[in-house]
Amino acid sequence: MNITENLQQIKASIPKHVTLVAVSKTKPNTAILEAYQAGQRVFGENKVQELTEKYESLPKDIEWHMIGHLQSNKVKYIAPFVSLIHGVDSFNLLKEINKRATQNERVINCLLQIHIAEEATKFGFDEKEVIELLQSEAFQDLKNIKIVGLMGMATFTDNENQIRKEFRSLKQLFDKLQTLSTQGTLSTFQHTTLSMGMSGDYQIAIEEGSTMIRVGSSIFGERNYH
Ligand SMILES: *Cc1c(COP(=O)(O)O)cnc(C)c1O
Repeated sequence: MNITENLQQIKASIPKHVTLVAVSKTKPNTAILEAYQAGQRVFGENKVQELTEKYESLPKDIEWHMIGHLQSNKVKYIAPFVSLIHGVDSFNLLKEINKRATQNERVINCLLQIHIAEEATKFGFDEKEVIELLQSEAFQDLKNIKIVGLMGMATFTDNENQIRKEFRSLKQLFDKLQTLSTQGTLSTFQHTTLSMGMSGDYQIAIEEGSTMIRVGSSIFGERNYH
């Protein structure tokens, strides 16, 4: 696996407005440093402990994204440094992020995770829930979080049409929230980020409007969980 070459190839194949998050979960610091030497600065992890350890031992100009399911009781460990939390899937989690961000005198950027897949195992809000959340007064009170967009994961399948359909539905919701926001129905949001697409489906995701892709194995090789 040549990490530098993989990165350059992916970078060359995606439009400039699309941010590449290099998903380094399970990979050693040496692999991350190789990507870093090749110019990559945005990395994603899905476990709090691993993320915290890597943050502590790697260069401080890395932007760390938490991309996995986040438990409320672990927010405090990443609140001092995390630059984007992708998978916010409940109001309680948002409240906890706000609390910890306040303690750290920061505003933490978040993406709301939307459930677009057929699989019930995946997390996230549905359309009605997300609109209700964004309109609620309790939400307006959270001054130390900033919702910068949405995140979603498509069904794990070879059926490209289904993947495309799911990404399209997420983009439609993204646009709808934007419209509601300009009409004043939602408090003003500057949604800029639509995080969708992984190694197997990022091309489709970009065609359907993704602005941020989360790519692991196509950069670092297959993960070995043993
Ligand atoms: C692991 C992971 C990715 C990257 O997966 P690859 O298929 O290796 O690119 C993207 N998003 C999330 C939420 C992940 O957990």
